[in-house]
Amino acid sequence: MTSTKLDRLFREIVHANLCEGCGACAYFCPDNCIRINFQAKSGLFNAELSKRNPGGCSDCGTCLQVCPALTKKYSKPRLPGTHEIDQVFDWFIEPHKHVYLGYASDRQRRYQCASGGLATSILTELVVSKQVDGIVMISPDPNQPIRHRIDLVQAPNNILNNRGSVYCHVDFSGVWPLIERHEGKLALMGLPCQLSAVKQVMRVRNLDAARLFKIGLFCGGTSSNKAMDYLCRRKNIDPDLVTAIRYRSGGWPGRKITAWVAKENDGGNDQPVVLLDRSASILQSGLYSFCFSGSHYPDFCKVCADQTATSADISLGDAWLPEISSNDNLGTNIIISRTDRGEKLLKEMHAAGIVEIQEATVAAVIRSQGDSLVGRKLGRWGRHIRKRSELDKEAAFFKDIIPQHFPGTWKCIERRMLQKLAEIKYQGFAFFCFMVYRVGVTLMMRAVHTALKSVTKGRT
Ligand SMILES: Cc1cc2nc3c(=O)[nH]c(=O)nc-3n(C[C@H](O)[C@H](O)[C@H](O)COP(=O)(O)OP(=O)(O)OC[C@H]3O[C@@H](n4cnc5c(N)ncnc54)[C@H](O)[C@@H]3O)c2cc1C
Repeated sequence: MTSTKLDRLFREIVHANLCEGCGACAYFCPDNCIRINFQAKSGLFNAELSKRNPGGCSDCGTCLQVCPALTKKYSKPRLPGTHEIDQVFDWFIEPHKHVYLGYASDRQRRYQCASGGLATSILTELVVSKQVDGIVMISPDPNQPIRHRIDLVQAPNNILNNRGSVYCHVDFSGVWPLIERHEGKLALMGLPCQLSAVKQVMRVRNLDAARLFKIGLFCGGTSSNKAMDYLCRRKNIDPDLVTAIRYRSGGWPGRKITAWVAKENDGGNDQPVVLLDRSASILQSGLYSFCFSGSHYPDFCKVCADQTATSADISLGDAWLPEISSNDNLGTNIIISRTDRGEKLLKEMHAAGIVEIQEATVAAVIRSQGDSLVGRKLGRWGRHIRKRSELDKEAAFFKDIIPQHFPGTWKCIERRMLQKLAEIKYQGFAFFCFMVYRVGVTLMMRAVHTALKSVTKGRT
């Protein structure tokens, strides 16, 4: 049987490294032609041809209809349509009711969670107040806890156990049976790409979107699992022996990555090992950047324009604002309420003393995200897909009005160049090249700075 549609999916998405691994194609394919599998070479969960029904594709096209990556590939960027400053700032974060800064009132929860503990507090409240039957969220894969997959969680304790950010690619494919078969109300916790995949599939499959309350995380990019495996190997740890992992620990901003490793001769006790401590040295902070700040982002992350989870009811990020982060060790969220029910829930939780929130501005959201939000929205990290000319007009405008948040041409070239390092088989060598480049650039900038200073001194 010829399968032109399946061929197209693999040619345009999977083999072009744009597969987000959401698993919608695999779950909804009536012929069982596709499956999601962990790809050791890329460190990502991606679609591949299933061995269960080789050549059995009936060419129905369901895979193309549900694929969020294909939709993104051909969607035109939505432009602000005005240069009225308030409106273009709104365009950066898309539909919203209000923007807040806030945190969980419970100080311990606030300290333990990724930023301010808002996500864990909201999910717990939704379950405790019986607004939903359960939470569709990631949790460690019991067979290999260093990786994460989707689960239905109902006990508040388990919601708390699943707190924190997971910066490596997760297996999201378990979401579809939970959403399709569960008849009651659920909440979904996820990244922007995960939420938009769910939104698209619910629309295409005529599923009732109103019964899903969506909490989204801001996302500057998710890394390949090769990054975490490399950190383990640097400490001579077999990734398969890791029993738990915390990507951020030690209070906000959470500069340590800690793994718990099974010790066979220790009465079953797992031993915590700090895989990385960003504040320890320049080398360690470079190692963090190498693993989690671009080099290991998959291609689908580079072309994603959605940093703030625009399809969520409530979106949550870190309040990376100097006036807050300079004297806060517990954590603060930046919060966008996008729908009436999202706004209502936040207000109720505030009134009940579960969370502290105070109104903030859209400009604060943009400021809190460095150049990442602006770079994504203007397609500057992966322009090969977005329409260059249309976005360039906007880029020129923003370069003038918010130069501090505008990723310049050199930054874009550098980012794409450093991304090539993740493809090198020997990650130790790749990290060496990364540090040589980093230190080289720093020394060169210093030399240019000193030379310029002495020239101006000579003149005066
Ligand atoms: C890959 C990634 C990139 C991010 N990039 C940015 C950024 O650029 N700027 C910014 O401000 N914030 C970013 N965040 C969000 C930030 O790290 C915090 O997660 C967010 O501020 C919520 O904090 P919290 O204390 O409310 O979360 P918590 O109360 O600790 O709860 C976090 C919840 O998110 C869930 N979760 C964690 N990781 C994932 C994942 N990979 N997929 C699905 N669900 C997950 C957890 O299960 C948990 O329920 C990113 C998060 C991730 C996972």
